[in-house]
Order: sequence, then structure tokens, then C-alpha cells
Amino acid sequence: MEYIVTKKNQKIDNFLKKTKKELDAFFGFEVREPAVLLLTSRKQLDSLWERKTEKWEVGGTRTLKGTQNGIIFILSPEVYCRQSTHKDPKVFWKTLKHEYCHIYFQQITGSSRPIWFNEGLASYMAGQKKSGGNPMDVFDYFDIGGEGVYQVGYFWVNFLVENFGEKKIKQLANALRTNNALSSKSFSYIFFRIYGFKFNYKSLKAILDKGLKLQSG
Ligand SMILES: [Zn+2]
Repeated sequence: MEYIVTKKNQKIDNFLKKTKKELDAFFGFEVREPAVLLLTSRKQLDSLWERKTEKWEVGGTRTLKGTQNGIIFILSPEVYCRQSTHKDPKVFWKTLKHEYCHIYFQQITGSSRPIWFNEGLASYMAGQKKSGGNPMDVFDYFDIGGEGVYQVGYFWVNFLVENFGEKKIKQLANALRTNNALSSKSFSYIFFRIYGFKFNYKSLKAILDKGLKLQSG
């Protein structure tokens, strides 16, 4: 195993400070600034995930159970494009913000469920616009992920914000605090309490067909 060397990086420190302010305000509670581990090769990412990672995967998040101590690991800006399918070095910063957002979600839910919401919210907050995919696949992504979860998750978070406002999305995120692992049934219940319509195929389809503001970008 190679050594993972962490160096002081002022640009990253500044970015984390700025992002902390924004995310603390959005979620309405504070989370301690995470440590960032800059990886210099895909091999390091593979050993952290304990599997062969896909070329589009560039990082991840861990939180020490029961604490606020989060770690973000991410391919360093120097190798970010070379070691992944991403072409634009600016994407690094969006990914860093995306991962940072997961730490808040982890603090709220104690998990990453619903995965579509976790990924959608992180992508939305990081300004990672996604298009394509079938929004109605959202029910497949409660406790499994995959490449398609980002499009579907982004679609619904963006859709809900565009049509019902950002306040309700914050409420939904914060209402996911539970003592037990969140089930899809309890998620539906919480969703209904906030939005006033059911989180099921029939009702989401009807909402889409009503021609509410649809996001295409
Ligand atoms: Zn993510």
C-alpha cells in the first residue's frame, strides 16, 4: 500500500470554510469541518472502498459513527482529470462540495438513505446539474445507488425546489432524523407530512403530468 500524503492546502482550507458557512445555514445546524484526504491515484481510492472503483467515481465520505468527525477522500486536483472520466478540473470543487453535503445528511439520518435524496441533494447543492434518466425510477434508488441515481436524484430535488421552494426541501432533509434506520415507509410518511401528496408512483406521476415547472437542464 502506498502512503497517502496530506499536505496543507490553503485553497482547499478556504473553500471548506466558505462551504461550511453555506451548508450550516442551509441545513440549520453546524457540522465540524471534515478532514480532506487528497488521493494521488485510483489505486488508493480502490483500497479505501475495498473494491475496484469505476472511472467516474472520484471520492467518498466517511463519518466516525456517533461523532461529527467526517473525512472526505477525493482524487487530488493534480490527478483528478487524468485518473477519472472528468475532463474539467473545475469539477473537483463541485465534487468536494458534493461530498461535504453528504456529511450533513449522514449526521441527520445516520445513514445515506434515501440514496436518491442524498445524491440528489448533494448534486443540487454543488451545482452539478444532471439531465436524462427516467424520474419514475426514483423508487429503485431508496437503498441502492449506481450511476443513474444522480440524474434521478437531481431531477427530483430540483423539481421539488422549483415547484415548492427551498424551505420545504430543508424541512424534508431535517425531518429524516430517526433513531432507527429510515425505512421507505417512514420516508413516505414524512414526505406526505411536508408536501401534502404521497411519495408513490401514482401520485408522483400525476404531479409530473400536471405540467408543473419541469427542469430540463
Ligand atoms: Zn455522492
